[in-house]
Amino acid sequence: MPDMINTKYPMPSQEPDVRNKNFLEVAQGYTEELALSESQRCLQCKHKPCMQGCPVNVRIPEFIKEIQDGKFEEAYQIIAGTNALPAVCGRVCPQENQCEKYCVRGIKGEPVGIGRLERFVADYHNENNRVLPEKPASNGKKVAVIGSGPSSLTCAGDLAKKGYEATIFEALHIPGGVLVYGIPEFRLPKSIVRQEIEGLEALGVKIETNTILGKSMSIDDLFDKYGFDAVFIGSGAGLPKFMNVPGINNNGVFSANEFLTRINLMKAYKPDSMTPISHPKKAVIVGGGNVAMDAARCAKRLGAETHIVYRRSMDELPARKEEVEHAVEEDIQFDLLCNPVEILSDENYNVTGVRCIRMQLGEPDDSGRRGVTEIPGSEFEMDCDCVIMALGTSPNPIIKKDTIALKTDRRGCIEVDETGKTSIDRVYAGGDAVTGAATVILAMGAGKEAAAEIDKLLSGN
Ligand code: FAD
Ligand code: SF4
Ligand code: SF4
Repeated sequence: MPDMINTKYPMPSQEPDVRNKNFLEVAQGYTEELALSESQRCLQCKHKPCMQGCPVNVRIPEFIKEIQDGKFEEAYQIIAGTNALPAVCGRVCPQENQCEKYCVRGIKGEPVGIGRLERFVADYHNENNRVLPEKPASNGKKVAVIGSGPSSLTCAGDLAKKGYEATIFEALHIPGGVLVYGIPEFRLPKSIVRQEIEGLEALGVKIETNTILGKSMSIDDLFDKYGFDAVFIGSGAGLPKFMNVPGINNNGVFSANEFLTRINLMKAYKPDSMTPISHPKKAVIVGGGNVAMDAARCAKRLGAETHIVYRRSMDELPARKEEVEHAVEEDIQFDLLCNPVEILSDENYNVTGVRCIRMQLGEPDDSGRRGVTEIPGSEFEMDCDCVIMALGTSPNPIIKKDTIALKTDRRGCIEVDETGKTSIDRVYAGGDAVTGAATVILAMGAGKEAAAEIDKLLSGN
C-alpha cells in the first residue's frame, strides 16, 4: 500500500543561523529510512506522467520501485542509463518545473520528492559501490566539444559511450562550467562534480583546460589541423550585464559571475587562497533571480550585512521559491520596489553607497509580467561598501567574432535548426549558448540530443 501522506518527508539540513556562517552543504540528504519512506509515496503510475518533465528521460517510476524494494544500486543503474550527472541533478534541477510538476501526487499535496530520491541514490552509489566505467572500444571518429558545462559533459559522455573519441576544450583551468564556478559549494559541493567528471574521463573523454575556441584555435583548425569529424559548442552564457548608471566602475562593484567565481572556483573565502576577495561590511545585490540569491548567500557567509535590491515585489521575484525561502531564513534583507540610479563613492572611487529610486507596479503585459515605473522624487540613499550586479548574462561573443559564418540572433545566442546543427556543417550547439541563461537539465537535454544527431551524422544511421 502506498503511503498517502500529502507532504514530502523533510530533508535534514543545517540550521539557518549555523549555515549562514559556513560554506558546507545546506541540505544533508535523505537517510536510507527517509528514502524508503519517501519512495512509498510513489503510486507507480502506469502512464508515468512524471517522465514527460525530464529532459533526459530518467525512468522515474522504475528507479523509485527499486528504492521501494531496498535495491539502491539497481536504482542507480536505471538513472545512470540516461543521466550523466545524477548527483548534480538530484541537487540542482528545478524539479518543481520539471519531473515533479507532472507527478500526480502533486494534485492534492506535494509531489513525490523525485529529486531528493535521485540525490539519495547517486550519493549511495558514490559512497558504497563506486566503480569507474570501462572505456568502450573506439570507433575511430573524433568529436571536439567546446566548454565543459552540463551540456558539453552530457554530449561528450553520450558520444564516448558509443565509442567516439570526445575531447572537451575548456577556457577555464577547471572543468564543470557553472557547476563549478557559479553554483555555490553549499548547494552543490565541487567534490560531487569532480566525481561525475571522473566517470566521464574513465569512459575516455579527454579534457583540455585553459583552451579558448576563438583564441587558442578556430573552428576551421578543429577540422583542418586537428582532424575532428564534428564539433559541439556548449560555451554557455557567461557574459554579465551591468547597469548603465553613474559610478558603475567604482571599486567594490562586481558582477555576480566574478564574485561567485572568486568564491566557488578559486575558494577565495579560505584564508590560504591566492585569490583576493572583498570582505564587505554591507553588500547590496541588485537583481531578483537565482544568481542574485546565490551571490547574496555567499556575501552573507563572508560576514556581510546583505541586502537584495529588486525593482518589483516579492511576488514577482524570478528566483525559485525555495531559494528565496533559504535566503530569508539566512537573514538576507529584501529591499523591494526600488532600483539603483547611482553608485556612490569616496574621493578614491571606493563604493560608499547606492542612490535608489522607489518603483511602483503597473498592469501586467501580454506575458502576464507586471511593468514598473519610477516614483518621481522618491530617491533615497543606502550605505554599503560593495555592490554586486546580478542582472542576467548573455553568450560571450568570442566564438562568433572569430567565425563570421556562425549565425547568432540579436541576443548573441547561436542559432540552430531542429537537430541542434548551427549554420556551419558538422557544427552543433546547445545549452545556454543557444537558449540564453536557462537550467542545468535543459542544457543536459540539449547535449544529449546533439550527441544523438552527431552519431546519426557520423555513423550514417
Ligand atoms: P555552462 O555551464 O555555462 O558552461 C560553459 C563552459 O564553456 C564554461 O565552463 C566556459 O568557461 C566555457 N567556455 C565559454 N566560452 C568558451 C570558449 N570560447 N572556449 C572554450 N570554453 C569556453 N540551473 C539549475 O538548473 N539549477 C540551479 O540551481 C542553477 N543555479 C545557478 C546558479 C548560478 C550562479 C548560475 C550562474 C547559473 C545557475 N543555473 C542553475 C543555470 C545553469 O547552471 C546553466 O543553465 C547551465 O550551467 C548551462 O550549461 P551549459 O553547458 O550551457 O554552459
Ligand atoms: Fe527530475 Fe532532473 Fe532527475 Fe530528470 S534529471 S528526473 S528532471 S531531477
Ligand atoms: Fe510516482 Fe508521481 Fe511518477 Fe506517479 S507521477 S509514478 S506517483 S513519481
